[in-house]
Amino acid sequence: MKNPLAPETVSRNKYIAIVYQFQYADSSPGVEGMQGESVDKAIRVLEKLGHRLTPQRVLVTKIILENVKNHPTFKEIHKLASENLPRLGVSTTYTIMKMLEEAGLIRTFEIDGETHIDSPEPHVNLYCEDTGKIIDLDEPEILETLINTLRQKGVNDPAPIVIIKARCNNTSTN
Ligand SMILES: [Zn+2]
Repeated sequence: MKNPLAPETVSRNKYIAIVYQFQYADSSPGVEGMQGESVDKAIRVLEKLGHRLTPQRVLVTKIILENVKNHPTFKEIHKLASENLPRLGVSTTYTIMKMLEEAGLIRTFEIDGETHIDSPEPHVNLYCEDTGKIIDLDEPEILETLINTLRQKGVNDPAPIVIIKARCNNTSTN
């Protein structure tokens, strides 16, 4: 299936702001990749937590988890899910998103008033202010340095939400 939300590559220079947001999610069930088997695994996690999984909840869960790497906004998820479930309400979609967040399967952050969905694994997000795209910086040394520095400041969060805001379409001729 072609993914309409796939990010484009952005260059990594010209960082203009760094926003740290701390979240105390102590354990994630270790779901990664979020395709096929991983999604099934996530569904079993939800069942174990006692959630009643209607076909609607399962479908929205799949759509969220399959797109999580692209940092979709809540609105985008609702739009995508509505293509299959025309009567799907905004509040139902929101409830499902919160259910996944509380289960540690996703997390969320806000940029410019939009809620974005993110994977729970520790990583650095790079947000391009020109295109609105968000990509993950997976280089472990970046995160390691950051987490060590935070620890020295008394912050012991192993998975802080880190967002670097930068302009990727800067056409400076210097
Ligand atoms: Zn991310």
